[in-house]
Amino acid sequence: MLIHAIITHSRVNGPGVRSVVYFQGCDLGCAGCWNPGTHAFVGGTRSGAEDVAAQILGVAGIDGVTFSGGEPMQQGPALASLMSILKACRPSLSIGMYSGYSERELDASATWRDVSQHLDFAVLGRFVAAKPSPLPLRTSANQILRLFSGRYREEDFQLQECEVQITQEGLVQITGFPLAGSPA
Ligand code: SF4
Repeated sequence: MLIHAIITHSRVNGPGVRSVVYFQGCDLGCAGCWNPGTHAFVGGTRSGAEDVAAQILGVAGIDGVTFSGGEPMQQGPALASLMSILKACRPSLSIGMYSGYSERELDASATWRDVSQHLDFAVLGRFVAAKPSPLPLRTSANQILRLFSGRYREEDFQLQECEVQITQEGLVQITGFPLAGSPA
């Protein structure tokens, strides 16, 4: 699988403290996308699902992991394998995902069933700059927050917030929602 970056601890990408895995590669082409550096299917780090799982499972103090991108479902079989390893090793780990695909599009995908069986929540749908939304995790009004497992309710999701992390090496990582309804 091709990975753009991993943030070990975040409080703005779903309930609790979560690692965030950014997939490298997305050809859905939403105008004003917040993560254009993740669009190319080159660059990033090529890793096996076992290696990515080991990285996540080695992070202390997280409630779950959120998959983002890039487009996780454009690496669907590898994503499903990664989820399967994570749930086998730590069944209590919460799993969430952002996908630019709508639920109707995903329902037509054979891989979606393998992925969705592991999900606690997902935000689904393209980013549409002309339809801003202030709702938790959704930057445009066409997107939906789909709850799968019964683990969460809508009120468990925090309002849109931005998070800036500066590593010891000086790398600055910005994640979350810099301005409600407008990731640009
Ligand atoms: S699906 Fe996500 S990563 Fe892909 S272009 Fe749209 S907003 Fe950007």
